[in-house]
Amino acid sequence: MIYPIRPVPRCAVLADGFRSLGPVRVFPSGWNEEAAKFDPQAIAAPLPRLETLAGAVTLTHAVIVFRRQWEPRLDAAQRDRLWRAFRVPVFEQIIAEDCTLLAAECEAHDGLHIESAKFAAGDHEIDRSACACGKTTPRLTGREAIRRAAAYAR
Ligand SMILES: [Zn+2]
Repeated sequence: MIYPIRPVPRCAVLADGFRSLGPVRVFPSGWNEEAAKFDPQAIAAPLPRLETLAGAVTLTHAVIVFRRQWEPRLDAAQRDRLWRAFRVPVFEQIIAEDCTLLAAECEAHDGLHIESAKFAAGDHEIDRSACACGKTTPRLTGREAIRRAAAYAR
């Protein structure tokens, strides 16, 4: 997990296998009284854990959604639900089984920057153009998925 924007706010990571560092605090068993006392400004967790917190937690900065490489990318409906639940920007991050960060969405929200050589691009479309955020690492764009959806709609 990397927090996508500096300075890093109080961020609760609701997942096992990560280490607390600075304002980032890990709650391996998920949301609990201790996490509530921490009063996070942002939360990073797998989608099901985030969805259980809808309406129960007020955030000011961001939600970071952990996905596995084999899971589909977050779709517009899921992003919309998270926006309506938390009213903060949504960032998707692909995390390996050993918690290595494989790919991460930046503040330009134009794809996920590939962060590790362990990432298997498979048949994903990769964009190597410079990103609006200033980073030049290749990105997983998801445009292919959008094109596929458009093709189905025809
Ligand atoms: Zn970027």
